[in-house]
Amino acid sequence: MSAVPPSATGIVTIDLRAIQENWRALAERVRPAECGAVVKADAYGLGAERVIPALAAAGCRSFFVATPQEAAQAMRLAAAPTIYVLDGLLPGAGDALIDAAAIPVLSDIGAVREWAALAARRDVRLPAALQLDSGLNRLGLSEADVMTLAADAELFAWLDLKLVMSHLACADDPDDAKNAAQLGAFRQLAARLLPAPLSLAASDGLMLGPDFHFDLVRPGYALYGGQAFKGGATPVRPVVRVEARVLQVRDVGDGETVGYSATFSAKGPRRIATIAAGYADGLFRHLSAGDRETGGSVSINGHLAPIAGRVSMDLITVDVTDVPGTPPQRGDLVCVIGDGLPIEAVGAAAGTIGYEVLTSLGRRFHRIYLDGDA
Ligand SMILES: *Cc1c(COP(=O)(O)O)cnc(C)c1O
Repeated sequence: MSAVPPSATGIVTIDLRAIQENWRALAERVRPAECGAVVKADAYGLGAERVIPALAAAGCRSFFVATPQEAAQAMRLAAAPTIYVLDGLLPGAGDALIDAAAIPVLSDIGAVREWAALAARRDVRLPAALQLDSGLNRLGLSEADVMTLAADAELFAWLDLKLVMSHLACADDPDDAKNAAQLGAFRQLAARLLPAPLSLAASDGLMLGPDFHFDLVRPGYALYGGQAFKGGATPVRPVVRVEARVLQVRDVGDGETVGYSATFSAKGPRRIATIAAGYADGLFRHLSAGDRETGGSVSINGHLAPIAGRVSMDLITVDVTDVPGTPPQRGDLVCVIGDGLPIEAVGAAAGTIGYEVLTSLGRRFHRIYLDGDA
């Protein structure tokens, strides 16, 4: 393991082998469907530069990004990958997609026409994915759009249709009736188009069972250790651990307050550790805890010590009075994610979800990548 510089205020450790094993476990789960990987937003904040080669080495061939810039980066990082751009085609931005050899996920009828016109102008068929709206009402072609397109044979002559996809709204809840409704709508809409490989499920959707797998699944969060599915455990393990340094330990007396706006008052003598991680490092201000609010915790010697007072930009204050074993000291590392604090728990304590925890993680912390298979 690489040495941690003494000046590092925090450490993010990313286990590339765990990402590879997670991908393999999901690929196994959905066979004979193909398992792709969603690596948008810098691989959910974990570093596309390291994550994409690790996934490619594990056998992943189809990658989903959000933007053309992300596509160009992904193209460098894997051998002959198939790269889908979820944001699709922005007006006039077709050349950037073609240069990146990326496949836009076209969700708008105007974008479909623009991509076909670009193909006609270049006199080549261009690869395309179509996204159908099956009830999320976010991005996707409506039923009327699909009917219009299906009647336009000339348009389709210019499109090399690589994938037809849709996205689920409530896949985390297997009891939600919207899952079956969207499945039905997707089947019906897709049947109006030329036959093409189909994709509906992301991390949670693939847990809903084989009906949802079609030809390709597109997990993101689960690859990075996320457990959002409410119907049981996704067969993946944690990937990320975040630690931060203790800067100072102090004793406060009964009734003294801690932090901005004095929102925490000590009930009896308490010992407070000040830790070098704040909202600028992804520890959301909503993790603050005071006399009127409960908030987040950090893990020290296997014990969850509660945050005391407001989270500030660079610092949190933690009540370490009840920590067993050696009391925390200046320079110690305490765990803010991992060791009994999964990303979901951190998200829940901040009133958000693990996805936002991951994508906000410590950009100024020292990063350690545990190597996977080459
Ligand atoms: C982000 C995204 C995914 C991946 O979702 P996870 O819940 O992270 O698995 C899949 N498909 C689309 C369209 C997305 O926007």
